[in-house]
Amino acid sequence: MARIVMKFGGTSVADLDRIRIAASRVRREVEAGNEVAVVVSAMAGTTNQLVGWCQSLSPLHDAREYDAVVATGEQITAGLMAIALQTLGIEARSWAGWQIPIRTDGAHGKARIEQIDGAELVHRMGQGQVAVVTGFQGLGPDHRITTLGRGGSDTSAVALAAALRADRCDIYTDVDGIYTTDPRIVTRARKLARISYEEMLELASVGAKVLQTRSVELAMKEKVRVQVLSSFQDVPGTLVVDEDEIVEKELVSGIAYSRDEAKLTVRRVPDRPGVAATVFGALSAENVNVDMIVQNISEDGMTDMTFTVGRSDLPRAQAALAEAKPQIGYAELLADTNVAKISVVGVGMRSHAGIASKMFRALADKGINIQVISTSEIKVSILIAADYTELAVRSLHTAYGLDAA
Ligand code: ASP
Ligand code: MG
Repeated sequence: MARIVMKFGGTSVADLDRIRIAASRVRREVEAGNEVAVVVSAMAGTTNQLVGWCQSLSPLHDAREYDAVVATGEQITAGLMAIALQTLGIEARSWAGWQIPIRTDGAHGKARIEQIDGAELVHRMGQGQVAVVTGFQGLGPDHRITTLGRGGSDTSAVALAAALRADRCDIYTDVDGIYTTDPRIVTRARKLARISYEEMLELASVGAKVLQTRSVELAMKEKVRVQVLSSFQDVPGTLVVDEDEIVEKELVSGIAYSRDEAKLTVRRVPDRPGVAATVFGALSAENVNVDMIVQNISEDGMTDMTFTVGRSDLPRAQAALAEAKPQIGYAELLADTNVAKISVVGVGMRSHAGIASKMFRALADKGINIQVISTSEIKVSILIAADYTELAVRSLHTAYGLDAA
């Protein structure tokens, strides 16, 4: 017998038929003797509609009332799921965030979960009752409903699993697991049986949009074992677990890409102490996140700095650097949005040399020019011209032996 949290995303509860299918998955776990808590998202499209209504009435709407509106989507599904379960002969009860309560901070619209009192749920689950909990919402210090930010019900599920000391948190979604790369680009992408939290975080931040990043961070911190699986197909999913649980560590687990980057170059800045602090200080003052950075060797006391920012931050970054031009003293600012970041991720890199050189060789063989390089302990990222994204991802997938047989 195990205690599990089962989370169903918007597409998995998009209509009554799908709610019935989800309920039958819950029944299967209950009948196998498990204690089950269910976390639900709003039906697909609902949250968008609710957000849209708030925005139409007032673009600068009150964040507390926004939360009062958008939290309703999950309440509908929680009640419907409880009814669907009861119809199948399973004892079930729905719970809104405030009823448990799931306590959050006061940041309406993007609140963080601070504490969950799981005692009552544990008691009832012990008596065979399934707890159906609204994702995405909690109770703020002002005793009003809060929401956690878009995609937040993944985080609700992981937080609940931690609070209930669940053996597993199963995330049912519209993909059947985590792949070595985007299967739309590489048809021979393979589904991973296991991936470590850290790898998942690196992959999530560079393009794989399966789990909300915050939920993975929380799972890593609380050591919650997460399983990503399809609610439509009855096939094994991917387990996201601690590195120690992965016996056969792959050198490289996945290849990720992102086209949401922009490249900036400040040309001919004086190469003296403090200049990087001035450039990046100006950007951080405007809340612009910088990702990859290279600085050239200097000639005649002048140097070039190239770095990347999120594409949506580009106008703000350009404005901040234009304003700081007198302090920085550069000659020219160049921007390029025709770029893509490709990342090779794997915990095996910690103990093996040659991962980066293999990457550079594979790209050279295809005539792809590398513009910027950055590395971390388990990741090598490069920036290339956006037109070569698919070719690069495919070549690397083959080069690291990830193609399915
Ligand atoms: N319903 C919310 C959203 O669409 C939360 C979630 O589904 O995770 O963002
Ligand atoms: Mg989601």
